[in-house]
Amino acid sequence: MTLTKKPEARPARASWGLASRGAPWEYAPAPEATDHIRIEPEYGLFIGNRFTPSKPRRTFTVINPATEEPLAKVAHASKADVNRAVTTAREAHRSSWSKLSGRDRAKYLYRIARILQERSREFAVVESLNSGKPIKESRDVDVPLAAAHFFYYAGWADKLDYAFPNRQPRSLGVAAQIIPWNFPLLMLAWKIAPALAAGNTVVLKPASTTPLTAYLFADVVKQADLPPGVVNIITGPGEIGMELVRHPDVRKVAFTGSTAVGKMIARAVAGSDKKVTLELGGKAANIVFDDAPLDQAIEGIINGIYFNQGEVCCAGSRLFVQESVHEALIDKLKARLGTLRVGDPLDKNTDVGAINSAGQLAKVQELVQSGIDEGAEIFQPDCELPDRGFFFRPTLFTGVSQSHRIAQEEIFGPVLSVLTFRTPEEAIEKANNTPYGLSAGVWTEKGSRIFKMIAGMKAGVVWANTFNRFDPTSPFGGYKESGHGREGGLHGLGAYLDVSGNDTQAR
Ligand code: NDP
Repeated sequence: MTLTKKPEARPARASWGLASRGAPWEYAPAPEATDHIRIEPEYGLFIGNRFTPSKPRRTFTVINPATEEPLAKVAHASKADVNRAVTTAREAHRSSWSKLSGRDRAKYLYRIARILQERSREFAVVESLNSGKPIKESRDVDVPLAAAHFFYYAGWADKLDYAFPNRQPRSLGVAAQIIPWNFPLLMLAWKIAPALAAGNTVVLKPASTTPLTAYLFADVVKQADLPPGVVNIITGPGEIGMELVRHPDVRKVAFTGSTAVGKMIARAVAGSDKKVTLELGGKAANIVFDDAPLDQAIEGIINGIYFNQGEVCCAGSRLFVQESVHEALIDKLKARLGTLRVGDPLDKNTDVGAINSAGQLAKVQELVQSGIDEGAEIFQPDCELPDRGFFFRPTLFTGVSQSHRIAQEEIFGPVLSVLTFRTPEEAIEKANNTPYGLSAGVWTEKGSRIFKMIAGMKAGVVWANTFNRFDPTSPFGGYKESGHGREGGLHGLGAYLDVSGNDTQAR
């Protein structure tokens, strides 16, 4: 698909250092080695600590979005396989995992966390190969945070009674967990770590485009010597996810993905006593006041929307700038955009990697075209894109109005829509004018203004003078169409426990 209006373009390459003296230079390529990783030609379903083919035996191919080359074949689970996985998980819950002391469960979780750290390079490379994200992000963010989640929840496993005073927390049983393709390993950790700490067993379905780190994690499960059936991983299309959600022996459903599928899941579990957490889409407002340190804000804006190619549910995709600093900020932003390096995810210099799939790229292109058609002004740096793979230039729209699709819909790509405001009240009203309510950012020197903005905005997370900061101790989740329930922190642990019984009842 081609854009029908030529964007305003600026030179895209790094132009600092020698460039300031008139001699632009390039970084030499710094590709991460791949000779230390092993991707199997085919992966079966991981059930009861064994890789087994689906029944009937069917597979589908997983590709590298940066090259469009195949990486591996993975099993296409059937309804019977879903049943096999859930039954195995239920039996493991009954016979082993729920009987272990919290202290013993913690030992396994600590073991997993340490193995993730030991094998971090391997995980980072496979994650970047399969998802398209830059290696510096998978290496410095995804993998360390995944390990941190296991460390954090390991700490809670033997303290459940203290975590919920005067309650008698009980595990729920089998948790069905469905995760997306934007943070495959990290979302796995967000789901599996609290579930196991609370004493549940799990059946996890990764996204069809990004199952490889989940299957690498299956190897960690074996290495950590977890009892068979505690962690089960199955692959297959969305319908298989729905089979899992509907399975009568599932006691908890945890989903991260699109709002459309989240609503289908909510309908599917309505009327049952399954616990549900839904982490859905977002359209975060990142708000810059005229007293903010602009250079610092620029870095926060860049991180907010171009991190992980903008494929982030809490991405700061709507930038609200106070009118008096709009021009100065946009000039700085355009210059900074020109320094972003788009290309090979395995190159350690790359800032923006590949979009995860052809389908997602088409969605980004379609929404960008709608922005042009509706009259917003597009800016893209004039950087070269690789000949193959699903790449998209970092994009900035100015002159955006509230009614434009690019101001309302989740794009899930490296596309920023800029709007303006005059007063804090106007910023709050505009920020809340979206069906979503996942996250927001505020940039100002005034502490009192930060509190006013936080109180006024319907967003599950508000970052002040920073953006996209994650910590396992901190709950994360949304309002409105961004879903309900929280993951992370104590709230995330409670989502995997039945705390309805109190300690006066028999144990
Ligand atoms: P989906 O919501 O379709 O996919 C997320 C997960 O749900 C995947 O594992 C997917 O499996 C599974 N799934 C799909 N359909 C069903 C179903 N009917 N029942 C149960 N599980 C299902 O997201 P997409 O990949 O289609 O992305 C579409 C848009 O959603 C993106 O453009 C973005 O806007 C948003 N999105 C938001 C995310 C977030 O973190 N909030 C994450 C991903 C996407 P499979 O991969 O096999 O289809």
